[in-house]
Amino acid sequence: MAIYQSGVIFENVPTQDPNCWTLAAYQARGGYSALRKILTEKIPQNDIIDEVKTSALRGRGGAGFPTGLKWSFMPRSFPGAKYVVCNTDEGEPGTFKDRDIIMFNPHALIEGMIIAGYAMGAASGYNYIHGEIFEGYQRFEAALAEARQAGFLGKNIMGLGFDFELYAHHGYGAYICGEETALLESLEGKKGQPRFKPPFPASYGLYGKPTTINNTETFASVPFIIKDGGQKFLAQGVEGAGGTKLFSISGHVERPGNYEVPLGTPFAELLAMAGGMRGGKKLKAVIPGGSSAPVLPADIMMACNMDYDSIAKAGSMLGSGAVIVMDEDVCMVKALERLAYFYHEESCGQCTPCREGTGWLYRVVHRIATGKGRPDDLDLLDSVGNNMAGRTICALADAAVFPVRSFTKHFRAEFEHYIEHGKPMKEHKWGGW
Ligand code: SF4
Repeated sequence: MAIYQSGVIFENVPTQDPNCWTLAAYQARGGYSALRKILTEKIPQNDIIDEVKTSALRGRGGAGFPTGLKWSFMPRSFPGAKYVVCNTDEGEPGTFKDRDIIMFNPHALIEGMIIAGYAMGAASGYNYIHGEIFEGYQRFEAALAEARQAGFLGKNIMGLGFDFELYAHHGYGAYICGEETALLESLEGKKGQPRFKPPFPASYGLYGKPTTINNTETFASVPFIIKDGGQKFLAQGVEGAGGTKLFSISGHVERPGNYEVPLGTPFAELLAMAGGMRGGKKLKAVIPGGSSAPVLPADIMMACNMDYDSIAKAGSMLGSGAVIVMDEDVCMVKALERLAYFYHEESCGQCTPCREGTGWLYRVVHRIATGKGRPDDLDLLDSVGNNMAGRTICALADAAVFPVRSFTKHFRAEFEHYIEHGKPMKEHKWGGW
């Protein structure tokens, strides 16, 4: 898997070196110096949160919420336990960046979480790792053991008077556990189903205590911000969204993999880094931010920059940065059928519009894809989607509707042809991507 070694998370990390993840290697790259600095200089909590605000770091898990602002919601004066929780429940189709962070640079995440604990007054943290990420889980446990042994975790860290303990938790592989409140339920040993919000985790989180949840890439960016300053981080991105971003590029490119580039990099440049289109084929469409993000046709994508606002203006979402590239041979009906099946499978079943609606979406798209589509099926998909979006406890229902709406909007002729003739417009090589 290619990793473009520059930027924040993978700066100077030689991922081809089997020891690049170790504590010794991390310290040789300046690791844990940000933590030492804040503990030695007893930097006030507010100053750290302000530095994160200056950096304009936005959550890397999908929502893109400003991290410094989120940290400021934590009620630090609340007596008793408070928690920081990392969401490494990476299960969105197309996303595979967080597993590389815990494989190749786990101490950046550990240091970022300790700093977050200090800034928000939390003495404990958990990293919830997706059940299908086996090697990464083992690697993260090994890194935790190293950090404990060296006095970076536990009581009186580095002899500088701060206590923080961090635990890894291996999930069971349910996509819905990436939703933050379902993750908390699962961490508490219950069925992983989202909670009603409010209350939000900052006031009622893990075990009912104030909790801040961030994505792996978000926490792992924090040591750089404290070490080099929020301004330097901000300068790498665009106004309102600082830093670099890891993009997981999959699909029909020559070199799929993770690429870390400054936010605002043109999509055309990112595609070129990934070796361009496989076999010289033409680009047909791109899902720019994980399977929940609306698909965009080639001409729109080729004019887009890879940052939150540019992608939103183009009609999609940057999400987690999972870029799914589809070439001219992809059948969009079959591709949507596969996506609709995923959301139907992964609905937790609490809300009727989601439990039933995802099933309807899948069955109708499947009907079209198997040559049995009916003339009013596209209207039916619209109507089912309207009865789902915004009417459920969590965003999974919306995530199931976005692909249906965008595929049928941008590639309507393909769907209409399939319904009328019971087969695709041309013999597509790829049933999915
Ligand atoms: Fe569960 Fe779907 Fe409701 Fe989310 S929207 S809580 S996944 S049923």
